[in-house]
Amino acid sequence: KIRLRYAPSPTGYLHIGNTRTALMNYLFAKHFNGDFIVRIEDTDLERNVEGAIESQFANLEWLGIDIDESFFKPGNESYGKYKQSEKFKRYEDFANKLVTQKKAYFCFCTLEELEQDYKQQEAKGIVATKYSGKCKLLLQEEIDKKISNNQEYSIRFAVIDDQIHFEDFVKGNISFDSSQLGDFVILKSNKIATYNFAVVVDDHDMDITHVLRGEEHISNTPRQILIYKAFDWKMPVFGHMSLIIDSSGKKLSKRSGNALFFIEQYKKQGYLPEAMLNYISLLGWSPSGEKEIFSKDELIKIFDDKRFSKSPSTFDMTKMKWINSQYMKKMSDEKYLDFVFNFINKEIYGIESKSKDWTNKMLLLFKNEIEFGEQINDHLDLFFVDKQISLELKSKFNEILNAPLVLNAFEQGLVNIKEWTIEEIKELIKVVSNITQTKGKELFMSARIGCTASEHGPSLADVIYLLGKEKVLDNIKKVK
Ligand code: GLU
Repeated sequence: KIRLRYAPSPTGYLHIGNTRTALMNYLFAKHFNGDFIVRIEDTDLERNVEGAIESQFANLEWLGIDIDESFFKPGNESYGKYKQSEKFKRYEDFANKLVTQKKAYFCFCTLEELEQDYKQQEAKGIVATKYSGKCKLLLQEEIDKKISNNQEYSIRFAVIDDQIHFEDFVKGNISFDSSQLGDFVILKSNKIATYNFAVVVDDHDMDITHVLRGEEHISNTPRQILIYKAFDWKMPVFGHMSLIIDSSGKKLSKRSGNALFFIEQYKKQGYLPEAMLNYISLLGWSPSGEKEIFSKDELIKIFDDKRFSKSPSTFDMTKMKWINSQYMKKMSDEKYLDFVFNFINKEIYGIESKSKDWTNKMLLLFKNEIEFGEQINDHLDLFFVDKQISLELKSKFNEILNAPLVLNAFEQGLVNIKEWTIEEIKELIKVVSNITQTKGKELFMSARIGCTASEHGPSLADVIYLLGKEKVLDNIKKVK
């Protein structure tokens, strides 16, 4: 059984980038009937953000990314804890084990000493990027003495110079010269494991078979491979997905101009979880064929681990909106109405004073129009804001041939209308067209500006109906 994991550090909220990682791991696992695990990597205690874990879980649930095992729902006991801060002792024991086997060693160098070392190396013309290895040479007595003097130490992995090769299922064959690494710290002097060490212990404990993550981690992989080798543990397969960039070509971030970053922002603006899942699945991955709209179940079915892209993918807000609008159109009227009602800005638009029937009719006019929930507000001024007709609009009205004639006919007709129904209003439009001998723009533009005090909007009869007789007659007076 394959097992994949999403391993967020609780340093922030769920955003497009880490959602893509979570989603791809989820689809991969589910395609092969495997397990999807969420593990919290919170070893960097100072960087942990209050509430980040809860909000990440809530957002994943909202998106429909179902988790088989996590902190809240542990699997077999043998998999260990799902939060790194509960495993400090275990990492420490493993680090000490490597020390006993001479695959790691105590390093007593202070920060100042390390800086000095780097400076000295630089003075000799060596580009100092790695630890000198000085403490590896300490004799056992020296080590014992330092320890009995309570000198602080970290534990460093003793890197053996070698060529490291791995087959990355996204990027292909990768080679790395380990002599460039230098002996890296696996346990800090505060006894907390570093990311590279904890991640290997965890992936081993949890029987993770595939590690699929962002390409920013690719330089960590050689270190992790060395640790697997030192323990003689079975290695997972690695895949590193390429960057998601914004329209300016930079890595997508919260500062990216026209794109939203956090899932919470999308949720708040009225994007649908199914649409987001759909769009995010197409970032750096694509199925064969032209089709772009996929349900979660379809995605699970068609997922193919050979179809990740090697080059960066651009997050396209226009496309995201388009996909969302496709999902909105597909909603049942009932669902759409419930959904969109929540996004009306009720402080500005007095929707509560309207009948249910009126509200529903009005909202349905925009079902095929809006791309996300909040956009409904772009259409409501028409019904709720009592503004004067602008001079510009008035002069547009005056430029239309026969506009006053059309409007007079409308006024007459409206005053005498039998019943205030959409059908009757449609009928009236026909009558006005006949008696004024107008059609097209001449008829509709003058009626629209005159009756609705606006140039744009959904079907004229619908708008007139919803505005109500009184309001329409009032508008007509304004333009005359
Ligand atoms: N905790 C790491 C991060 O948030 C993920 C590490 C991994 O997937 O190996 O970037």
